Amino acid sequence: MENEKKIKRNIKKEFIQPDPVKINFYHIFLLIWLGMIAYQYYLVQNITTVSYSEFLSRVDAGEVKEVVISDASIRATLNTKKVGSNKFDSIIAVPVKDDQLTARLIKNSVSFKAVPSETFLGNLLKWLIPIAIIVFLWNIVLKKIMGSAGGGLLNFQKSKARVYVEEDIHTTFKDIAGVEEAKQELAEIVNYLKDPNSFGRLGGRAPKGILLVGPPGTGKTLMARAVAGEASVPFYHINGSEFVEMFVGMGAARVRDLFNQARKSAPCILFIDELDALGKARSTSPMSGANDEKEQTLNQLLAELDGFDSQTGIILLAATNRPEILDPALLRSGRFDRQVLIDKPDQKGRVAILKIHIKKVRSAKDLSVENIAHLTPGFSGADLENLTNEAALVATRRKGKDVVEEDFTEAIERIVAGLERKNRIINPEEKKRVAYHEMGHASVGLAMDCLDKVHKVSIIPRGIGALGYTLQRPTEDRYLLTKNQLSQKISVLLGGRVSEKIFFSDVSTGASDDLNKATDIARAMVTQYSMSDKVGLPTYELKHNQFLGGAPVQANQVSDATSQLIDSEVRFTLEAAEEKAIDVIEKNRKFIEACVQKLLIDETLVETDLKALWKEFGVSA
Ligand code: ADP
Ligand code: ZN
Repeated sequence: MENEKKIKRNIKKEFIQPDPVKINFYHIFLLIWLGMIAYQYYLVQNITTVSYSEFLSRVDAGEVKEVVISDASIRATLNTKKVGSNKFDSIIAVPVKDDQLTARLIKNSVSFKAVPSETFLGNLLKWLIPIAIIVFLWNIVLKKIMGSAGGGLLNFQKSKARVYVEEDIHTTFKDIAGVEEAKQELAEIVNYLKDPNSFGRLGGRAPKGILLVGPPGTGKTLMARAVAGEASVPFYHINGSEFVEMFVGMGAARVRDLFNQARKSAPCILFIDELDALGKARSTSPMSGANDEKEQTLNQLLAELDGFDSQTGIILLAATNRPEILDPALLRSGRFDRQVLIDKPDQKGRVAILKIHIKKVRSAKDLSVENIAHLTPGFSGADLENLTNEAALVATRRKGKDVVEEDFTEAIERIVAGLERKNRIINPEEKKRVAYHEMGHASVGLAMDCLDKVHKVSIIPRGIGALGYTLQRPTEDRYLLTKNQLSQKISVLLGGRVSEKIFFSDVSTGASDDLNKATDIARAMVTQYSMSDKVGLPTYELKHNQFLGGAPVQANQVSDATSQLIDSEVRFTLEAAEEKAIDVIEKNRKFIEACVQKLLIDETLVETDLKALWKEFGVSA
């Protein structure tokens, strides 16, 4: 709450404010127009249209006082004394070619005159009024479409996505905990923003776009804001989903507009939340024209990214929790080429985050933050903030003097019940299985001294599906992989399942993703790279057909016999790799047991922890 207020205060100006209702040209015009309609209505009330013959008979009856003749009409003012009760005092008739009319009028002593049918002013109005009405209505329609905000007719392409700019940010890295690696990576950006000109002095290319990747509530927005706060530069905050527009080209115009505004106040941070809404992979299918708008917006974003150089002083930060659906063009070098992982916190991280938020409530002196952190695996930073808040509410309700540990346990129970529905929190038995599974991957990776170094092992649940993960970082960029390296990859993938089999003498559903990936690699080895002697040189790769929405079609004809052979070779490749994994894990039982003990307490093991235990217990393949 406190925080929120602070943020609100910091919003110095919001770029596009909804227009206050102003009296302008259109309002005056509307009034005149309404007046004219009312006058017309008044006139019509007193006039009735009659046939020419009736007009003549009224002239003959002496009811007509005065006549005005034009090309298009004859207007007769009636003699009210003669007609009596005056529902109307004039009649109009369409003239007929009648040479006797003047004589007749004179005979009945009616005064008459003729007028030219069209006046200049009348002509002009006839033209102007409909045009003005159309313009007026069009403007109203446009305003409706663009939402409540709107300027005049001419600046309708201005960015309507809410852009917040905060000038004076007090958030710093101190307000964020549990993401030390990310902080280190972003510290460089802070240095750059503090002095953009001297940064490129030695020819180093300044970073442009950085993608913050991580589950919701882990502090990505907070981190971006803190970078701005640390460097004391303005912070532009927009949401990717607000850029997707109704009209083709509008989103692109907004992107251009936004960058122009940011350029004016450089150095600054431009933060795009939910980049995935904007930067979804463009469809390759030529059939779908419906995505034109999104593509234009994305193309404009790419163009802007390519457009500014290191001297501009704008840093683009973007957040997403689904990096895999982003258009690959966004991740190319010179664009969002740096990714910073902002993950759910481990035990140590949770302690640090809780300390930040507990400071804001009056807590008991003997409160053990460690105990609370132990009870909250899988909680994100936002969950922990919410927890602290709930605990304070519980304490208030029981009229306590300060917030004690029991308040937290009660709040945890309440929140976990909600989270279980959303996220699922794993139970201790599952946690143990996940630990053995992940250590299976890690130990095979370590033993084979694989191309991808084991960087981190974690049993913190991450969203749906993945219960834990082993993070491997490629040691170097590789374009060529040998047959041996590919089968090592398969062994690492199968290691998790093998470990479960060995330590629990039973397998679980948790390995399905691993199995899919392993099978894909094995199949590619056989059908694309001809790495199986039995199948031999011909490749049997499936080609993706553009015109069938990317559905794979068989490029070459494959006989039944070959197809069987491929299947058996894929199986053979997988089994051979599994053999190796089994061998490694059997040899490394001690290492795995030791790591699992530590994992169950700390939830994550980083490279250094793993290396230390490996020295003590590990056996290479
Ligand atoms: P995201 O943008 O990743 O969805 P936010 O930055 O909006 O998450 O986080 C919401 C709130 O949760 C923050 O304002 C902050 O109070 C709290 N929070 C999240 N992560 C952390 C963290 N690592 N350290 C401290 N507070 C955090
Ligand atoms: Zn696995």
